[in-house]
Amino acid sequence: MKKKLSAKNLWKLRPRTLEIHGGGDFKDHELRPVVDRVTAYPLGSFERAKRLFEGKEGGFIYSRINNRTVDRLEKRVAVLEGAEAGLATSSGMSAILIISLHLANGGGHIVSSNRLYGGVLHLFRELLPKLGIEVTLLENPYDLDEWERAIRSNTRFLALENPSNPLIDLFDPRPIAKIAHRHGIKLVIDNTLATPALAQPLKRGADIVWHSLSKYFGDGEVIGGCIVGKKRLIDDMRLGWFRTLGPCMSPDNAAIFLSHAESLFGRVMEHSKNALRVARFLSKHPKVRRVFYPAFGPRARENKKIMPQGFGGLMAFEIKGGRRDAKRVLESLRLFWHAPNIGESRSLVIHPATTTHGQLTKEELAKAEITQGTLRLSIGREDPLDLIEDLKLALAKI
Ligand code: PLP
Repeated sequence: MKKKLSAKNLWKLRPRTLEIHGGGDFKDHELRPVVDRVTAYPLGSFERAKRLFEGKEGGFIYSRINNRTVDRLEKRVAVLEGAEAGLATSSGMSAILIISLHLANGGGHIVSSNRLYGGVLHLFRELLPKLGIEVTLLENPYDLDEWERAIRSNTRFLALENPSNPLIDLFDPRPIAKIAHRHGIKLVIDNTLATPALAQPLKRGADIVWHSLSKYFGDGEVIGGCIVGKKRLIDDMRLGWFRTLGPCMSPDNAAIFLSHAESLFGRVMEHSKNALRVARFLSKHPKVRRVFYPAFGPRARENKKIMPQGFGGLMAFEIKGGRRDAKRVLESLRLFWHAPNIGESRSLVIHPATTTHGQLTKEELAKAEITQGTLRLSIGREDPLDLIEDLKLALAKI
């Protein structure tokens, strides 16, 4: 019979155990996640209902606010990140939207790295300003003085995607966290690409971590997101914008994420190993101008200190011939699927300048170092030699 493990002693378990067991008291859980496909929960007494709705007592209320299966996932992600609590969302985008509204509503200001997934860039640059939330996008987020200089009296948080999509810029969060805390504001990190298998930003000074679970965490099967941090903050978010706007995760998706969580660390290590081999091959190829992977380039040594376990499966490379040749290579690849995701077991390819980052102006693309010759690869878990062969044949077409 299974021993009763309390949430308390689970914290002492190692990550590879926590990805399978982490997230609460086991005595009231089934062996596999049960999909609690309900809308509302019984509230009990008149007084209890009042306390639940005021947030004075914890308990399940209504699946837009909380749900037993989703709760199990929230606890699993929180445990893996070393956080007190989690809030699962319908997608990664709704996670960053809720964080932004919660922290910066009413005329707040955000300072962010400009190395961001295109959707977040669009939110920060175009949409939040329409709600009166200003965002400063730093041109060189490696320059700590730029962070410092951009902070104003109404700045509510600093935002970082680490590593970034699509060029895998990697930052040490600790000095950025120090700047944030000196000003009494929070550091918010998108840990989607690293996953807790490769980085735990809360242990390096971040106050809030958020994820698109739609990538590595869920092996690309379903859409979802999660925010983790201190319990008080997560509770406030849940009972604030989240409860009213309604970007909740479905319990079915939560159960799927829970299953994939069990293999997260092993999968991410495989992605990392394969990506390193592909990046090594591309870095020596005469038709490739530049490879973007943290194991290469002038920052490689520093990067290894930031993420010693590996850099994940995302990488990009620039083809010397520009857009026409990039198109030719993309269309010649046979194993790589042309699709806009990251972190699936199958390898994927995309041309960021015309798709994921197509909303950027020419100048913004240039600042973000995304050229017409750039192709992004999400390296999967196939045999890396087959992936290299596929790239070799495609590059031979130009
Ligand atoms: N963060 C990163 C790094 C991403 O690549 C993406 C999507 O591609 C997102 C966030 C947004 O997540 P979602 O698609 O789950 O809304």
